Amino acid sequence: MVNENAYHELMAQLKEKKVELIAVSKFKTVEDIAALYALGQRDFGENYVQELVEKQHYFANKVGFEAIRWHFIGHLQRNKVKYIAPFIHLIHGVDSFKLLQEINKEAQKNNRSIHCLLQIHIATEVSKFGLDNAGAFELMQYYTAQQESLQNVVLQGVMGMASFSEDLNQVKAEFAELKAAFSLLKSNFSLFKDDFRSISMGMSNDYQLAIAEGSNMVRIGSLLFGNR
Ligand SMILES: *Cc1c(COP(=O)(O)O)cnc(C)c1O
Repeated sequence: MVNENAYHELMAQLKEKKVELIAVSKFKTVEDIAALYALGQRDFGENYVQELVEKQHYFANKVGFEAIRWHFIGHLQRNKVKYIAPFIHLIHGVDSFKLLQEINKEAQKNNRSIHCLLQIHIATEVSKFGLDNAGAFELMQYYTAQQESLQNVVLQGVMGMASFSEDLNQVKAEFAELKAAFSLLKSNFSLFKDDFRSISMGMSNDYQLAIAEGSNMVRIGSLLFGNR
């Protein structure tokens, strides 16, 4: 079920602040996705490769959904890149140079370029994936050094997930940390110019806090589609 009012209210807030919405549709049906698309939503995020591929295939064969853009927001294994490379719009969770190289290779095979965000670990929980600041810096250095052979990937920014915490100051500090990491990378690696522009942070429970701390891309599921 799509919460139409929630979508319109959210879009009004995001439009004013020039924040992009990725509607997170994991575990939700193609009917739910179609309903949100009918309201004007074009960007959808999925966490699991097989689920994403099935949904993409469904909509690719359906008239009227040509403008849909798929985002991969989960943890991406290198051996699965090939399945999403033909169509993926943005990969949010790049957390190693090897993964970036694999994405480049598969993008090249498909004769396209794939935009990517570096996932940075900002939460206190150990279970979440992502690079630390030094790791992100190092990845950017490798990328810079080998840019000639990485013509089919575009680094578009950073992504992170805050702790699941009631402590708003903690969450706020983590978002501020991601914003600072973004600024540091942008100022140190000027070769990206305007390509390096996205800060993907904020989910249903914390998106307002994320926007206040500089997010310009939020990933929201349950607020729009109900609980999973
Ligand atoms: C599931 C998920 C979301 C959306 O979470 P909601 O709380 O439903 O808004 C956002 N980002 C990532 C990485 C997710 O896995």
